Amino acid sequence: MEITEYPSPNYNQRQTNQTPPDILVIHTMNMELSEALELLTSPAREISSHYVIATDGTIYRLVSEDCRAWHCGTGKSKWRGKDDLNSFSLGIELIRPVNSSGYPKEQIDALTELARSILSRFPIPARNIVGHSDIAPGRKTDPIFPFPWKDLALKGIGLWTDDFTPAAQNAESMLEAIGYDIKDLSAAITAFQMHFLPENVNGKADDLTLKRLSALTRILDN
Ligand SMILES: [Zn+2]
Repeated sequence: MEITEYPSPNYNQRQTNQTPPDILVIHTMNMELSEALELLTSPAREISSHYVIATDGTIYRLVSEDCRAWHCGTGKSKWRGKDDLNSFSLGIELIRPVNSSGYPKEQIDALTELARSILSRFPIPARNIVGHSDIAPGRKTDPIFPFPWKDLALKGIGLWTDDFTPAAQNAESMLEAIGYDIKDLSAAITAFQMHFLPENVNGKADDLTLKRLSALTRILDN
């Protein structure tokens, strides 16, 4: 795998020096590559991510995996009760130019290869491979929908089930068990559906949603 170095000054030390990152966050940037690289390396903007993947599959490394890149928003994102997700995560930005449609195969292939290499180096459970939308319901909607979560999971990257099982719990407790911040329940349901039930995105705890939630809570890993 070839990686192009494109260092950003926008990083600092992780709060948890002893604990390796155990969350992988996938984003999209709805702009051209040159604009995104400019933004992610501009000291005035104070944002960055570890990697950027262009539409042609070129991978750029902006921040070393050892360091804390600034892609989650401080104090604004939450997963499994943790905040300061920048300290616990690695971030990948996919370039998605305005007016483009879908994710090119080259880009998803590069993401697959990069994610596999990250998973070989860090103890990231499948359930902690998430989108920005999963950790910031109602605030962020990237990666732009629809995102190929199922295809990636079939390649060993992330959690997936096609099952629907009768739900014994309510939506709130299942969403919380998976990791969602439920302070805005409808936003959390929408975020869940965008990831795990893309054929039924409506923000409602309907029968299909409850049954998919139930199926997913049965296969949660560490
Ligand atoms: Zn994002």
